Amino acid sequence: MKRISDYNFWFLTGSQHLYGEDALKNVEKNSKIIVEKLNNSKQIPCRIIYKEILVDSPSIEKTIKAANSDENCAGIICWMHTFSPAKMWINGLRALSKPMLQINTQFNIKIPYKTMDMDFMNLNQSAHGDREFGFITSRMDIPRSVIAGHYENKLFQTRMAKWMRAATAAVAGRSLSIVRFGDNMRDVAVTDGDKIEAMVQLGWSVPYYGIGDLVEIVNKVTESEIDSLIEEYKKDYTIAKHENPDFAMNQIREQAKIEIAIEKLLIENNAEAFTTNFQDLHGLNQLPGLACQHLMAKGYGFAGEGDWKTAAMVRTLKMMGEGLDGGCSFMEDYTYNLEEGKLYNLGAHMLEVCPSIAGDKPSIEVHPLGIGDKSDPARIVFNGKAGEGFTCSIVDLGTRFRIVTNDVEIIDAPEKFEKLPVARALWNPLPDFLTSTEAWILSGAGHHNTLTTALDIEYIEFYSEIVRVEHLAIDKNTTISQFRKEDRWNRGYYAK
Ligand code: MN
Repeated sequence: MKRISDYNFWFLTGSQHLYGEDALKNVEKNSKIIVEKLNNSKQIPCRIIYKEILVDSPSIEKTIKAANSDENCAGIICWMHTFSPAKMWINGLRALSKPMLQINTQFNIKIPYKTMDMDFMNLNQSAHGDREFGFITSRMDIPRSVIAGHYENKLFQTRMAKWMRAATAAVAGRSLSIVRFGDNMRDVAVTDGDKIEAMVQLGWSVPYYGIGDLVEIVNKVTESEIDSLIEEYKKDYTIAKHENPDFAMNQIREQAKIEIAIEKLLIENNAEAFTTNFQDLHGLNQLPGLACQHLMAKGYGFAGEGDWKTAAMVRTLKMMGEGLDGGCSFMEDYTYNLEEGKLYNLGAHMLEVCPSIAGDKPSIEVHPLGIGDKSDPARIVFNGKAGEGFTCSIVDLGTRFRIVTNDVEIIDAPEKFEKLPVARALWNPLPDFLTSTEAWILSGAGHHNTLTTALDIEYIEFYSEIVRVEHLAIDKNTTISQFRKEDRWNRGYYAK
């Protein structure tokens, strides 16, 4: 599985020959210090590689083309320490195919009022050098984000780390493969979509595998492989007391067997996400429940009923949040609490919710499943951890994709769920339940989503800019009238 640390970013400093060799030496010295300090920051998730000072059009074009073809490079970070005439950047920027961040920073923090002279002014001029660069990237409509502030500032580094995580997930997405066992659920619209366009726009490929391909691997899983996975389950989860413990353990072992087989197939095919469909389980004894949940906990993307778009988004957001506090799961808006003053949304799924979002110790339980006509599946049951997060959905609007997010506050349920045999999270969506729900439905986003408590909306703002996909956010400031306008304006902007 790809890790964030597999990637790096190239640091490009723009300048020109006008200031003489001494000034350029200082530009280089300062840039190297900035790169070193950023690399030493605990927040920065992957290595930044210093590249030489760029002072003319051929060297800029050559460096950007080299960044494009370096498969470990997840993007370029540009900084104009001095003034770098932007016509020199046109050929390079035209070729750019990697994410780009412009940092508008400065080597010094304080203006040295008493000592500064024109040499100082000529060296420390990112205040206008970065504006020249901003003009050309704006004029050429290059996808980019700008982060301003001193490079040692905590907020600056936090935002830079967010952008880097978003860029890494976007670049990894260009070769993301989502294995589909079966098609999407019959007659369901929102889980379907244009797989070719997803590959063109996001790089996602969605290969189909017959369930028989999986069953073949399931049948070859050994008892000792199952034994060691059961030990892993026991470390992380409680196994609930069952009336018939032998039957329950048998069902849990069956899920372990399915998990091992799915992971083998994913690894063999270089895939990091998958979907299942309870209408297509020929030869499998149970609907994969615990198996999907534990694979999600390992970092794989997953969604039910053939929903490959959500599976891809689960994998994408898991990668963005790698190593951060909080979790990320496939989720479904299930049922509401509509009591006055206590309007909540209960998210769950038939079985498959990722234990990374759990607030209590998850428990493995075996219960019958009314749908699908298969043997009682083992699943992990828990309550979602209270705290802030957001739900995210990617919608296929026919000619393009749209990402919809909603900030939510996950809460502890006011009463115990005594009989509900699936993992769940109860949340209070922002700005309030009614506005959020109406906006979500107006946006066309469906019942499946990705719930993350490891990230905030800024990651999606960076990500949507990099992949050039619309992002409609439902947050504390949303009103329906403004949201409808945004929807319609965006339809105009994104019209092809
Ligand atoms: Mn579903």
